[in-house]
Amino acid sequence: MTNTTTTGILERLQQGIVQGAEGYVFELERRGYIKAGPYVPEVVLDFPAAVKELHREFLRAGSDVMVALTYYAHREKLKDVGRENDLERMNRQAVQLANEVAREGNALVAGNICNTWAYDPQDVTTSSRVVRAMYEEQLTWAVEEGIDFVISETNDYLGEALIALEVIKQLGLPAMVTLASVQPHTTRDGYDYVEACQRLAGAGADIVGLNCDRGPRTMLPIIKKIRSAVSCYVAAQPVPFKTGEQHPTFESLRTSDGQQAFPLALEPFLYNRFEMAEFAREARDIGVNYIGICCGGAPHYVRAMAEALGKTVPASKYSPAMELHPMLGTHVEEKDQHFLADWKN
Ligand SMILES: [Zn+2]
Repeated sequence: MTNTTTTGILERLQQGIVQGAEGYVFELERRGYIKAGPYVPEVVLDFPAAVKELHREFLRAGSDVMVALTYYAHREKLKDVGRENDLERMNRQAVQLANEVAREGNALVAGNICNTWAYDPQDVTTSSRVVRAMYEEQLTWAVEEGIDFVISETNDYLGEALIALEVIKQLGLPAMVTLASVQPHTTRDGYDYVEACQRLAGAGADIVGLNCDRGPRTMLPIIKKIRSAVSCYVAAQPVPFKTGEQHPTFESLRTSDGQQAFPLALEPFLYNRFEMAEFAREARDIGVNYIGICCGGAPHYVRAMAEALGKTVPASKYSPAMELHPMLGTHVEEKDQHFLADWKN
């Protein structure tokens, strides 16, 4: 069963840019529904309304895709928090929640799988079997609950990403496969990110690219190379943090006293909405087809990005109208302007 009466992902990409929004785990941790550390999406069963609310916020802000919150809802991770018995229920419910909200708009539902931490490049044969079984069970449940396509993301290993792709294709669904880019140039099994994307495209991925780990400044140069190396659709979903030459990933950012800022002290490095809107325009200009945001993402960014791409979305009804602000607005009396100037100094 697929969700839907709506146009599919490939048709939408044919017509223009598709916008995504992720970072569910990060944001729901911040809101007090997920434990940092294991980062297992227990919220799906414990506080389903909180998950629906965030889906709805992303939908209203312009996301074309509701990504089912099954990130880390796999056997290995659930074992860590002693909830292995909830595995099937958690996966099915996550897809149901995404569907319920997708139907409130005209959004697609993506099934979601990610790096398993079970893949072992030293023992590919045995570990591949384990990984494949995990993907198969997650995606079989997802297909039964109704999805339009699958996002396989934050892949550290090309080898593991190729297993994900094979499982998605066996199910007959469009596949978006994006890599983590924690290391400077290559996946953990030694493939240059560009070459890894070429191989994924060659193996039948419909959309390839990068997500998470890097902010726009350090992700876009790689995305540019990927764009010119593949003919399939390209996705870019950076984190909204100020990564740069010294600290190319958000894992490598340091607080003023030299501590690792990832994952709980990253706020000083956040971009503002205007800067993320600029990212969306740059991504569009280099030919990225699926433009989104990852950990640290929030609805105000998604709306600013949607509007930068020329869309008016439901939440645009409440987009800023600073001319109406009592102190910053244009109708402020002249004497108040002086006060404001003094106050600012
Ligand atoms: Zn992320």
